[in-house]
Amino acid sequence: MTDPVPHRAEIVVDVAAIRHNVRILKDLVSVDGPVQMMTVVKADGYGHGMVEAAEAAREGGADWLGVATIDEALALRAAGDQGPLLCWLSAPGDDFAAAVAAGVELTAYTVAELDEVAAVGDARVQLKLDTGLSRGGAPRAEWQELFAAAAAHEAAGRVRVTGIWSHFAASDEPTHPANDAQEADFREALRLAEAAGLDPDVTHLANSAAAILRPSSHFDLVRCGIASYGLDPAPGVSPRLGLRPAMTVRARLLMSKAISAGDGVSYGHTWLADRDTTVGVVPVGYAEGILRAAGNTASVWVEDSLRPILGRVCMDQFVVGLHGELPRPGTDVVLFGPGDLGEPTAQDWAEAVGTISYEIVTRLGGRLARRHVDSERVDADINGADLEGTPT
Ligand SMILES: *Cc1c(COP(=O)(O)O)cnc(C)c1O
Repeated sequence: MTDPVPHRAEIVVDVAAIRHNVRILKDLVSVDGPVQMMTVVKADGYGHGMVEAAEAAREGGADWLGVATIDEALALRAAGDQGPLLCWLSAPGDDFAAAVAAGVELTAYTVAELDEVAAVGDARVQLKLDTGLSRGGAPRAEWQELFAAAAAHEAAGRVRVTGIWSHFAASDEPTHPANDAQEADFREALRLAEAAGLDPDVTHLANSAAAILRPSSHFDLVRCGIASYGLDPAPGVSPRLGLRPAMTVRARLLMSKAISAGDGVSYGHTWLADRDTTVGVVPVGYAEGILRAAGNTASVWVEDSLRPILGRVCMDQFVVGLHGELPRPGTDVVLFGPGDLGEPTAQDWAEAVGTISYEIVTRLGGRLARRHVDSERVDADINGADLEGTPT
């Protein structure tokens, strides 16, 4: 263990991987002509660190950054980002004036929201349409009214309508009929917007899965979140693109010990030793966002092999099977990483617990430390026990 800063448990994010993924995705969507790239860095950059992810994304060629809330957008501005930046999830009472003053583009779903933004004056606003997700966005019955109101505000110089957009319900299932229907409805909405006198700079519909799997949905810009972090938005469907998972989660083994045949492990004894064996204690638990459902299903990487999580994951720790070996306390335990050495990936964890990789990476927190390394700029190996890099 040559790590200069021995953390009990940490998240290590390789910003070079984010740069690389953004570059790959931008090249992919631009094969038939330029398409702008928005890297989505909401939810603390999907758990990777919003500011560091944003910086890496810009370096990789992100024309835009996308976030959910105004608070997230203002945090990016406070960190120095000056580029095009869109947010799309405002709640009543949000500080639109602060967003406008910071040059953040807002999204309106309703005429009421648009009026509120227009009252600030001089706002750049995008209109979000519901084309079939039945979540945020103007429902079809309100499109004409929203476009008319937007055109009127624009004519009066109160807002500039810079974009019109929508969001897919099932882009990770390319043959799902909702995809064709939503894209057709979006095209119809754009015709109605044009007829109402709107001339947005950008129209957009695609998230990561659609960016990768549905070129017809690229329009002027794609909004890529999960793929920017190197995780597959449509496992088993996406082609191999050379994306690289940016996040590694590791901990240090607290102790290892022998147990006897018949011994039960962890709360409720949901795992029983069928022979004499050894187990280790890993000092992270559900307070760190390690899913309790990972007990008896997920595996971790210890001393060059996969080891099962035995019994229930506790609040602060879990028990790992060690196959008769007794590694030293402090031995590196990789929960998941890029997978290069055989360690599990976030996708493996998602499959083990019945969720999606998005949830695995965004829910981490608690007492985990997080550090950023740059494998292209320093001699850093983000996979092994000898992980070194520049803490940021
Ligand atoms: C989160 C989000 C995205 C990014 O989706 P991914 O599947 O992670 O690429 C794109 N658009 C909107 C509106 C979102 O909320």
